[in-house]
Amino acid sequence: MSDIIRLLPDHVANQIAAGEVVQRPASVVKELIENSVDAGATEIKLILKEAGKTLIQVIDNGKGMSDVDARMSFERHATSKISKAEDLFALSTKGFRGEALASIAAIAHVELKTRQHDVELGTHIVIEGTKLVSQEVAVTPAGTSFSVKNLFFNIPARRNFLKSDNVELRNIIDEFERIVLVHHNIHFSLIHNGSEVFNLLPTNARQRIVNVFGTRTNEKLVPIKENTEIVEVTGFVGKPEFAKKSRGEQFFFVNDRFVKSGYLHHAIMAAYEGLLKEGTHPSYFIYFNVPPDSIDINIHPTKTEVKFDDEQALYSILRSIIKHSLGQFNVAPVLDFQRDAS
Ligand code: ADP
Ligand code: MG
Repeated sequence: MSDIIRLLPDHVANQIAAGEVVQRPASVVKELIENSVDAGATEIKLILKEAGKTLIQVIDNGKGMSDVDARMSFERHATSKISKAEDLFALSTKGFRGEALASIAAIAHVELKTRQHDVELGTHIVIEGTKLVSQEVAVTPAGTSFSVKNLFFNIPARRNFLKSDNVELRNIIDEFERIVLVHHNIHFSLIHNGSEVFNLLPTNARQRIVNVFGTRTNEKLVPIKENTEIVEVTGFVGKPEFAKKSRGEQFFFVNDRFVKSGYLHHAIMAAYEGLLKEGTHPSYFIYFNVPPDSIDINIHPTKTEVKFDDEQALYSILRSIIKHSLGQFNVAPVLDFQRDAS
């Protein structure tokens, strides 16, 4: 009789996990920017080359890491954000799985420069496919800079599967928008192949939407606001006559996280019943704030799905507040003066 079961070596386990966490350059962008947000950055810069296929760099002015943490951050299940199972039900950070950096480092060439604000010198780490190439003391600005180069260099099948630069960039911009629309008080910029695509100064929620989607967006937005025991709803819905053939500008956030919910999308559409031209889709930007212990966001590694305790109640609340807000605006359009909602 011989035993044949073995624990996988870390670098193999990391590569498998990477398959779930990192599907394309946009996944790396999401993970790195979320880390910068979690680090308390007030300025986050995203620099891309060839839609992220050759370079994805995120520079932030957040709290930075110590030398030891910088090395540790690439270990699997290494996180500073939770320490016990109960923490999963009171999450205030975007990250918590401690998987992203380990996964990214398993399938790319990664360079990290980081310095905490209260020390003079930072650290510079180079990692290639999980292997630590070097760690040195470095003169670097306070905060953190991650450069991810040659994504999927060691997984040719994945690399070949990447779409055209246009498509990959579109995916990146989608992820970027999902973050900047929530964190309107952070200064974000995006530079692709040397040209500036976005430079978004800190502002309020409405103005951030306008800055991302264009000045003409302003006249399309109807504010919504509702406060109940189980949810606080804020945001904007598009006036029905501006609904478009494509389903682009539909954003639903729960506790500052972009979330997909077919069920609540249906609630929104139900509120528009009878108001839309056939085949058109309204814009919406809806922000839910719910008690952290009333949701479970640990369903999917990319965390775009969420489970609510009382989905049906949320459905009716959402439908009625949107219906009400649209109705108000329809009955008395002259009263639809521009409000400052932030
Ligand atoms: P998670 O975000 O789930 O904790 P990650 O693999 O994304 O896992 O990051 C691991 C750890 O590295 C984080 O918990 C955090 O302590 C540290 N870290 C990552 N990015 C940054 C950053 N930009 N600034 C400061 N610390 C960071
Ligand atoms: Mg993270």
